[in-house]
Order: sequence, then C-alpha cells, then structure tokens
Amino acid sequence: PPVEAPNWVANLNPPQRDAVLTSEGPVLMLAGAGTGKTAALTARLANLVHERKAWPSEILCVTFTNRAAREMRERVGTLIGPAVEGMPWLGTFHSICARMLRRHAELAGLESNYTIIDMDDQQRLLKQLIAERELDEKRWPARQLAGLIDRWKNRGLNPEDLDAAENESYANGRGQELYAAYQARLKALNACDFGDLLLHMLNIFRRNRDVLEQYQQRFKYVMVDEYQDTNAVQYLWLRLIAQARKNICVVGDDDQSIYSWRGAEVANILRFEKDFPGAKVIRLEQNYRSTPQILAAASGLIAENSERLGKTLWTERHAGDPVRVVGVWDAPEEARRVGEDIERLEREGAPLDQIAILVRAQYQTREFEDRFIQIGLNYRIVGGFRFYERAEIRDALAYLRVIAQPSDDLAFERIYNQPKRGLGAKTLEKMHQHARKTGMPLAAASLQLADSDELPKRAGGTIAALMRDFLRWREEADNLSSAELLRQVLEESGYNAMLQAERSAEAAGRLENLSELARAMEDYESLTDFLEHVSLVMDNDARDDGEKITIMTMHAAKGLEFEHVFLPGWEEGVFPSQRSLDEGGLASLEEERRLAYVAITRARRRCTILHAANRRIYGQWTSSIPSRFIEELPEDHIEQETTMSGGASLWRANWSDQDDPFAHVSSSRPERSQQRGPGWQRALATGYQTTPKKLKEPTRSAASFAAKARKDVAIGDRVFHEKFGYGEVQAQEGNKLEIAFETTGVKRVIDSFVKKA
Ligand code: ATP
Ligand code: MG
Repeated sequence: PPVEAPNWVANLNPPQRDAVLTSEGPVLMLAGAGTGKTAALTARLANLVHERKAWPSEILCVTFTNRAAREMRERVGTLIGPAVEGMPWLGTFHSICARMLRRHAELAGLESNYTIIDMDDQQRLLKQLIAERELDEKRWPARQLAGLIDRWKNRGLNPEDLDAAENESYANGRGQELYAAYQARLKALNACDFGDLLLHMLNIFRRNRDVLEQYQQRFKYVMVDEYQDTNAVQYLWLRLIAQARKNICVVGDDDQSIYSWRGAEVANILRFEKDFPGAKVIRLEQNYRSTPQILAAASGLIAENSERLGKTLWTERHAGDPVRVVGVWDAPEEARRVGEDIERLEREGAPLDQIAILVRAQYQTREFEDRFIQIGLNYRIVGGFRFYERAEIRDALAYLRVIAQPSDDLAFERIYNQPKRGLGAKTLEKMHQHARKTGMPLAAASLQLADSDELPKRAGGTIAALMRDFLRWREEADNLSSAELLRQVLEESGYNAMLQAERSAEAAGRLENLSELARAMEDYESLTDFLEHVSLVMDNDARDDGEKITIMTMHAAKGLEFEHVFLPGWEEGVFPSQRSLDEGGLASLEEERRLAYVAITRARRRCTILHAANRRIYGQWTSSIPSRFIEELPEDHIEQETTMSGGASLWRANWSDQDDPFAHVSSSRPERSQQRGPGWQRALATGYQTTPKKLKEPTRSAASFAAKARKDVAIGDRVFHEKFGYGEVQAQEGNKLEIAFETTGVKRVIDSFVKKA
C-alpha cells in the first residue's frame, strides 16, 4: 500500500527531497549557506528510521559540534516520536571514536577505562620528555611539539610514518623520537589525547579487518554534516567504514571551509566523486535563512575568491534591509553603538537569544562584556571563557592584586611560580607554615623565610628577587598609569617572554588578550578603581537568568542562525587578521574571506558590520582602515553609516578630505572614486599611522568613565537607572551602589549609570 508522505518530506523542496529519498548509494549534497543542508540531513535520518531501512543504532551520523548532535537528535525525535530510542552513533567525530575506542581499547594497547587528557596534561608530559632528553625547552617549547603532534595525528600519521622533513621539524631531527616516546608514555598511563581518539580507531581499522568489517556491517547508512571541514584522519576513517556498503551521504559547502589551520582539507569534498564513483551530486540553491539583501552581500563578497566551485543562491523572502556598515570612532563607541541597537531591538520585541555578536578574535569580546554589564544586558560567551576568567587574565590580575594589596594570599599563591621560577610545592608548603606561625601574609612570610636557612639557597634567592620586583612595582605604581604598570610587570616578570617562547597561535591569542587588558585599564584612574571594576564584573558573571545575547567567534558560529547579527571590528589587521596578512599567502586571505561569508550568512533578518576609525594599541592611538571585505561588498546591498560622536574623524577625513567633526551621516555608500580620493591616497602613503598624541582623545564614552565614587549619591536616595528603573540606594562601596529597584529587585550597579530621581 502507498505510504502516506510524511510531512517532513512534504515540507522540503525537490532537491532536498531527492537527497532524503535517495537512501542507497553515495550522495554528495553541495550547497551554499542556509539552503537547508542540515535540515535535509535531519529529515533523511528520520526517514531512514521511519521507513525501517535501519534501526537508529545502525546509522552513523557525524555532526560538527555536540550541540548540533543534540539539536539533530531532538528534531528527529519530534519527527518520528519516541520510536527513536537514542542514537548512539550520532555525534562528533571525537565523541563517536571515544565510544568505539572503549570497546576496542586493548587493540590500541589501552584498557577500556582509559582517560582522555587535556591540553595542560599533554604539555606537562611533553615537558618531562623534553627535559629527560636535556633539550633546551626555551628553544624547543613543549607547545610547539604539541602542535606538531596534533598536526601529525590530524593527518593520520603515526611516529613511524613521519618522513625526514617532518622529523627535522623539531629539535633538529628528534621529532619522531619524541612523538614515539610521547605515545609510549601515554600508553603507560592508560591515557590518550584528543587526536588519538581518531588515530587509534584508524589504526585499529587498518590492522584488524574483523573489527572494521563489524562496523561496515553495522552501519547501514553513514551521514556527515559540514563535510568541507573534515581533516585527513577523519576522511580516512570514514572512507574505511563506508567502503563496503557505499551508503554514504555527505553535505558541505566549499565556501564555508574555515578550519584548514586545524588540518581540514576542502579537497575531501572535491575527491568524493572519485572515491565513490557514481555518486549522486545534489545542489541546493534556494536559501531559506536570509533576506535577499543579506544573501546578495555575502554572495558578492565570496565571489572575490578564486578557489571555489561557484554556485548560485536565491530566496523567496522579501527584500528586507540592506546590510548596514557602520563606521564608529573607536572600540568603546563600537560597543556602545551595538548596545543601543540591541536595546532598540529589545524594545521592538526581539528576543535576546536571537541576537548574536560574532567576533574574529577572543579579545574583542572584552569591550562588549564591559558595556553590557554596565547597561544590564544579559549575555553569554559561547565556546570560550568570559574575558576576565581566562587564565592569562587571572594571572595578570593576580600580579596587580599583590601590588595593590600585599596581603592578598590567594593572588600571591597563583603567581609565585608563574612563569615557572623553579619554586615547587615543597617551598609553598614551607611558606604557608611560616605564614601560619607568624600570622603574616604569605608574601611577607616568604620574604622572611627567604632570609632564613630553612629554604634551599636557590629557592630563597628566587623569592627574594621576586619580592624586590614587587617592591619596585609598588613604588612605580604611583608614577605610572596602571596600564603602563601592567605592561612593565608582564615584561619584567617574564610572563610575556613565557608566552612568546611558546610560538603557538594560542599563545599569540593570550598575548592579544593581555594587551586588551592593558587597554581596558587605560579607562581607569587608579589601579584600585580598576580592580574594583573587575570584581564587579566577576560578580555579575555569576548571574544566570533569562534570555541572553550570544557572543562568540565566527568560527564557533558555523551552522547556526540568528535573526540579528552584529559583526564588529572589520578593519585591516583585525579582520582579515594580522596573522593572515603577515602570512601573506592568497590561501590564508581566502580562508578569512570564507569566514566573512560564514559570518554574514548567520543572519536571518539584519546584519550590521562595524569598523572603528581608531584602535588603541599599546597605549597609542592608531588609525585603522576599514577591512578590504567591506570594499568588496556589492554596493547595492549595503547601507553605509558613520557616527562621529567623538570628535573629528580621521577615517572620514581620509575618505573625502572633508573635515566635518560632528557629522552624523546616514547615507548610501560614497562613490568608490571618492573613497579613493587624495586623502585616501595620502593615508595609504603614510601607512595610516598617526603619531599618538596628535589625535585628540575621543570623548569619553560611557564605557570609559572614570571609576570614581560619586559624592552626590547617598544611602536612602531615590535614583533612576537607565536599565532597571527607579530604586533606593541601600549601600555604597566605591563607585558601586547596591540598589533595591522597584520592579527588578536588588542589584549592584555602577554609580555613573544612575541619576538622582
Ligand atoms: P549552513 O550552511 O549555514 O549550515 P544549512 O544549509 O545547513 O546552512 P539549514 O540550517 O539546514 O541550512 O537551514 C536554514 C534554515 O532554513 C533553517 O531555519 C531551516 O529550518 C530552514 N529550511 C530548510 N529547508 C527548508 C524548506 N524546505 N522550507 C522552509 N524552510 C527550510
Ligand atoms: Mg548546516
């Protein structure tokens, strides 16, 4: 009897339906952003189960994140009901391989209760191995070795597979030896790292036909989302499993390949038809996510890439707003502007969880976090720590706390051996004992101890030197701005050097975060003011209620969608990133452009791109130029706007040689010839550098108010707060007020945000 078409198929367009109903044989769904690839894959999964072609446990389905797996499981659940009793093999490559490896651990020389170590452990192990070989860790940092080992594992290479060049890439030809030693040590510990999960399973499949066949039999269907971002080891693993039945359906978009730095190979998509001859290639062209304006802007941008398959996208949605490109004076104004826009959206009824801010680099989140806390907008940081919770930020703050408050034992304990000074747990124990005995703070007690003979000479000397440093920093705190003080501390303590020696992308990110911290401090008059601000921020972090704005990196936003998307920092050197520009290659620039395409296409309704005319880098004002990606957006689909609330705009002057200091222009984009007028050229010739003091400090934005307590507000006063409404002051502590608001309850706020009512 004809089966009634289930509604998940009825709702799909013909090519999507084709992908769902073609259950046998290889299928490649190659299509642009928002065309319903993930939706089709989900329907396909539901259909296979519904049609009894396979039990849920006989389908292998790989998603890019655990979150995507969860969403897919939920959607399949709503489509086919409780018939789906879990989907054991729906997940990320890592989660699926971890599950398999538990069953076959002995084939990898492990026991089934093996542990998965994190990056910290990984590095500690490597450090030991490096030290055992008496290699100079400064020259050959553990982090560098960790990076190499990851890369080898991503490529499916075991130690014995390395060629001479790979072997040479660490410590003059000792790469292979150390990689092998690391693997042996992991085995001895009954542990493996993330890269091993896949590599072990690939090895097991290759060396044990029976195990491979077992999985080839089990998985009647294989499906993979975001296929363009699979790396070699994932690809090889998939190919082995799918080879027998060849029922494999992969979906992807070459324009969204953004993980080549992690070893992803977009070539895997192009190779699919060769690996699986006769594969059915399905192209989806109708986009259901975004307005035509957003789509046209993104398509115009990605058309600038040379290495792409090319595709057309169309939509039936009605026009909507053009993509807005907003030029602001500086980073605080950028955050303020986004905050205002979001408050307006909120008033218009937009739920906060439909709003996202997507940044290129983690450090960019700080300005937004500070601003949102001040105006009381709920936000969450996805896929990373909140700015002030990051390890390097906490370390830096700990130094400052010890300077400001010598009796801050917790802070002292955090950094007494960070960077490594050779002070171990034994020394710390003695310091604690002495502090308890004498009733002194830890730092003071350790100085006294350093003079005694209770500590080994070397440890004593190290502590004494550290305490001398603190004494000097404390004196200098009176003369230097706190930002300058921080920079000096990071230099002189060896903290910067420690990160620089690591020579990894991650360490570079940490250094960026630290200079962002210094930038944040420039807005405060004293160290105490700043530390107070931080404790307030941290305090607010604990709150967890209601809808939230999402702040995340563009990378983490892959596959997601939001009604409203804000894309700040579109300036040369921020986005495209300085690193991609320094590397210089066309490939890295094209990858940045794909990232821009991913970012814009996350938006359903509105997309706002921002760029600031000035960034403060190491205390100096530097004028920045708008990202080349802005230039590349098709003019018909964008709306250019500059807000110059903060004084003369160098950026604007560069563009048109006009000098209209307080212009607030909202117009369509100036002619390109005009943009490249004499001012533009001159700016190009001078490299866009202006000397620091020439630029007037912008008007202090609300985000950069000085944290001085107000004298005109007292306990018992009735006040008005722009976000929380009317309330009564209950307590005052520095510039922080505790206010019982009439409608929103008791909150701690910063006093500059209240007016006396
Ligand atoms: P990306 O490349 O960003 O991962 P995608 O191709 O996976 O995008 P989906 O996330 O599956 O796209 O779908 C985008 C939006 O379009 C979703 O909101 C989805 O519900 C909707 N959608 C997909 N297919 C259809 C359809 N046939 N009819 C109506 N809406 C659809
Ligand atoms: Mg998708």
